[in-house]
Amino acid sequence: MTLVLLLASVSCARRADMRAGVGTETITPQEMPFWLSGYAARTAPASEVRQQLFAKALALEDAQGARSVIVTIDIIGIPRVLRNAIADDVERLHGLKPEALLLNCSHTHSGPAVRENLEVLFSFDDEEKAKTARYREFLRQRVVAAVGGALASLEPVNLSYGEGSAPFAINRRAQRLEAEDPSANPVRTVDHSVPVLRVERQDGGLLAVLFGYACHNTTLTAEFNAVAGDYAGYAQQEVQNANPGVTALFLMLCGGDQNPFPRSKEELAPQHGQTLARAVQEVLSKPGELEALSGGLRSALRFERLPFETHTRADFEQERNNENVYRKRRAEWVLGRMDKGDDLNAVEYPVQVLRLGERFGLVGLGGEVVVDYGLNIKQAYPGIRLVVAGYTNDVMCYIPNRRILKEGGYEADDSMMYYGQPGKFIPEVEDKVMGAVKAAMADVGFVR
Ligand SMILES: [Zn+2]
Repeated sequence: MTLVLLLASVSCARRADMRAGVGTETITPQEMPFWLSGYAARTAPASEVRQQLFAKALALEDAQGARSVIVTIDIIGIPRVLRNAIADDVERLHGLKPEALLLNCSHTHSGPAVRENLEVLFSFDDEEKAKTARYREFLRQRVVAAVGGALASLEPVNLSYGEGSAPFAINRRAQRLEAEDPSANPVRTVDHSVPVLRVERQDGGLLAVLFGYACHNTTLTAEFNAVAGDYAGYAQQEVQNANPGVTALFLMLCGGDQNPFPRSKEELAPQHGQTLARAVQEVLSKPGELEALSGGLRSALRFERLPFETHTRADFEQERNNENVYRKRRAEWVLGRMDKGDDLNAVEYPVQVLRLGERFGLVGLGGEVVVDYGLNIKQAYPGIRLVVAGYTNDVMCYIPNRRILKEGGYEADDSMMYYGQPGKFIPEVEDKVMGAVKAAMADVGFVR
């Protein structure tokens, strides 16, 4: 009798109080040749597709009908206007509130250019501009369709969470600083953790696997000029091959100052993809060690102003005459935005939190966030299983911390030019980002 009761209570506890659905759309450019974005050194559009690119959506719904949708996109980054257009469509078509829609970019450097992200990398003629505008519209429609597919296919699921590890990310700033001065002993923070969310159907089969890693998706460097998803694309493919019927979604975490090592050889992209997929499989192979997730969904989205150091119109009137073509283009871009009346003193920075149950949260930060943020945010909430993604909802520039702003270099300074931003952030941006995270976490009831 005791045994029967025990079994009854176990099966009751296992009953799904969550539903989930997935949607997948290809986002490979239809109009080849097409310019790829990420490297200034490329001098021609790509004619070849080595690997298809995808937008994938994972929709979640709790017992009360609250919903969240996580979308992962094999793309360098998306601008805020595109995120807003997608969020508007999704709200109009499906009633999903913007704060419940999270859009994450894999940051592949072998995917299509999406204006006006990294605008200064290119000098497009009108025809190229029209072509990229058509691609942006295509991307908008495909992402909206992926979300629609996911919401239309909700089914009862069990969710669980675990973490693996993959070793191929290195701190690229440390690598550079050491190359310049072997005695430098630079800070070399990395985060090798591989968070894995397992979404299981009622029959025990896998519906979806959401996993992430904090490392630039740049195994393939500028001389490789064909469409591909880089290591993240190969990792998703590997996980799907190993689990037929599953949808594998990759989240880019805080990999702003992290590079895969080694890199710059084509065969290394599938190799790193396999390494990452093995880490995911290792977690999936031990379901008993995963933490079951259940309970309500909550979401919050905040915007924080991140100020730049002071600049004037005269600075850019002068920079317009610079010999460096990128400085020149940045100056023209900034002056054009000033003419339109845009606010160039700060960026409006999105910080999102999706909460699931008592102890799990997904933090989504805009921009190319350096790894220290991911580590520090997780450390600030020791009782909660937190996944901290960068490259979410808007990729407007790098998000360095105070130390990196002081050290200078690419992530603090030079990269701002390619993004068409007016200059460096002030050192207080670190406090502002952390403050916005704290507030968004409190919005969903996570208080430290
Ligand atoms: Zn980057």
